[in-house]
Amino acid sequence: VSGLEVHFPIRSAFLRRRIGTVRAVDGVDIEVARGETLALVGESGCGKTTTGKAILRLIDPTRGSIRFDGEEIARHGAARLAPFRRRMQIVFQDPFASLNPRMTVGGILAAPFEIHRIGTPADRPERIAALLRTVGLRPEAARRYPHEFSGGQRQRIGIARALALEPELIIGDEPVSALDVSIQAQVINLMKRLQAERGLAYIMISHNLAVVSHVADRVAVMYLGRVVETAPRETLFFGARHPYTQALLSAVPEPVPGLRRTRQVLQGDVPSPARPPTGCHFHLRCPIAQARCAQEAPAQRIIAPGHAVACHLVAP
Ligand code: SF4
Repeated sequence: VSGLEVHFPIRSAFLRRRIGTVRAVDGVDIEVARGETLALVGESGCGKTTTGKAILRLIDPTRGSIRFDGEEIARHGAARLAPFRRRMQIVFQDPFASLNPRMTVGGILAAPFEIHRIGTPADRPERIAALLRTVGLRPEAARRYPHEFSGGQRQRIGIARALALEPELIIGDEPVSALDVSIQAQVINLMKRLQAERGLAYIMISHNLAVVSHVADRVAVMYLGRVVETAPRETLFFGARHPYTQALLSAVPEPVPGLRRTRQVLQGDVPSPARPPTGCHFHLRCPIAQARCAQEAPAQRIIAPGHAVACHLVAP
């Protein structure tokens, strides 16, 4: 993904015209390799979910490039996107809201095969049973309804649905944040096992740094529609260089064992993406901002292998 922008118009019902633009994603560059997990982290409203949906082309990007396995798909229409939709799937945050309560689990899991015309009606029960076994559920679950399952089991069903088309990339949009902490580890371990068995690439969208420390190979930190720092997991947790990343890490008591920090409290609130600050989007809250920061947006600079930072004051 390079230079990705997703802007939404703000319209006034009263004036009947466009009165502004929400710059939800404002120039994002990320990549994920086969078999790798990239975590996309940041506070709510930073644009991480919109980035994920744009990659899947569930919403149209305003500008920028999305290349999947070498092919540019940012401007593909529905027909040319169809084969890519099979190769990229999503697991949603709330497994209850994302499963149709009026359908049996078997019906939910049959839908991807029907939509993409895979196999025959006769072989669907066996396909569905195999999917359920893959995620640790019994084949009899197919006859039951989503409300008959616990939160963790429902998320397993959501994962089974995402696996039905044998994707290569799964975007997890806060996939465990609606679950009890005791269940989160089970679902994370399931996703890690499936990744190892199938070579899946994951983009894990999360605000939970403790979860990120368990799943990510690399981490991209977003602030107000932009990626401010990208680094391998260990580098990010123990050697973050961007002032926003440092403040974010300091807000969690001990996101990874052995990492203790003095709490840095940022001043003010995150500005509205409808009126982002000029220059560096973080300059109104940055403890080390200089005059230049209000004028000039910092470019991402590689400061070490795999470690990129967008800050005027960070040098290799
Ligand atoms: Fe702070 Fe300036 Fe760096 Fe932005 S560019 S993070 S405002 S020092």
